[in-house]
Amino acid sequence: MSSNEPFRIAALAGDGIGPEVMREALKVLRVVESKYALKLDISEAPVGWAGIDAAGSALPEATLALCKRSDCILFGSVGLPARDATIPKDQRPERAALLRLRREFGLFANLRPVRLYAELAHACPLAKDRQGAGIDVLVVRELTGGLYFGQPKLTETLADGTQRAIDTMVYTTPEIERIAHVAFRAAKLRRSRVCSIDKANVLENGVLWREVVTRIGHQYPGVSLEHMFVDNGAMQLMLRPTQFDVILCENLFGDILSDEAAALAGSLGMLPSASLGATTGARTFGFYEPAGGTAPDIAGKDLANPIAQILSCALMLRHTFRSDTAATAIETAVARVIAQGLRTGDIFSALDTAAQRTGTNGMGDAIAAEI
Ligand code: NAD
Repeated sequence: MSSNEPFRIAALAGDGIGPEVMREALKVLRVVESKYALKLDISEAPVGWAGIDAAGSALPEATLALCKRSDCILFGSVGLPARDATIPKDQRPERAALLRLRREFGLFANLRPVRLYAELAHACPLAKDRQGAGIDVLVVRELTGGLYFGQPKLTETLADGTQRAIDTMVYTTPEIERIAHVAFRAAKLRRSRVCSIDKANVLENGVLWREVVTRIGHQYPGVSLEHMFVDNGAMQLMLRPTQFDVILCENLFGDILSDEAAALAGSLGMLPSASLGATTGARTFGFYEPAGGTAPDIAGKDLANPIAQILSCALMLRHTFRSDTAATAIETAVARVIAQGLRTGDIFSALDTAAQRTGTNGMGDAIAAEI
């Protein structure tokens, strides 16, 4: 693929606050496009309840076809609890759209960066003396292996009537190798430190995980590697979160630790995430979304924080399109706007006298203007 091919982006806003925060993200992308002379080919399509209302399916065929023609998916959120309860489980948006897209595009790596901005320290649940300045962690989670998918996976009834549930933890060398490469490459773009999490003292999977990650680490001499047992890792994240740069985990441990890390940033509205699939030519297929859901409690009121969606665009530019400069420009603009005191309701504190409350639209405008 030649370097002047347009960046093909499928923008699926979804439900609840999805369309509101997506509008701000696209506003910011258009500014980045002109400032950095990029060619963005953005097509919007319905998903979730918007898909059901428009075409009778949470993932309409035309939406899936658009995703297949694109280099990446910029996703809002799907699902509305009051309506979800009215249809069968396998037709509900999270299962029929979100899980299907993850499967369809082989998204094996989940990246969740968590950053506590100094000005938002009040939103962090840790005691002040524990916070330290600048929590800035990237959790890299393996997304398609381990206990969640290993076979056999079943519940059976034994002869004496006892029920037994079985989940199987399976990892192969190639699965560990490819996620380890993602973590080491990401670390090179950050502070060049990887902490790999396992349970090598108890689990066979942990022993193999540690061996393979160590071997792959030798290919990245500029990146330091440390290993930590998951129980200690969970504790260290609370005791001294600033010690971490990239945390590399298998699926289950990553599920738990990425939520634990997310809590440190104070609001779901601040947290982007990326799920990466295969790399073709110079581009890695990616799925970019905010960590939160559709927030029906605040939808349609200009209250949602668009920063998670906007920072998802930065991840998209960095990981799918390798435009680190444009990605950093978005992240810097967000940090500046936070430093200036602009706050949506979820990160507002009345104790902060410099803080100025704004809405979804106002926050998007300010970030676009800063770029
Ligand atoms: P949620 O993340 O939507 O909301 C939890 C809380 O966080 C709410 O108080 C909400 O107002 C707040 N919040 C979330 N994002 C925010 C933002 N950008 N700005 C300000 N506040 C924000 O979780 P929920 O209430 O458990 O779920 C609501 C719906 O979203 C459900 O239907 C659920 O299935 C769906 N959901 C979808 C996804 C997804 O599409 N990836 C993820 C999680 C939940």
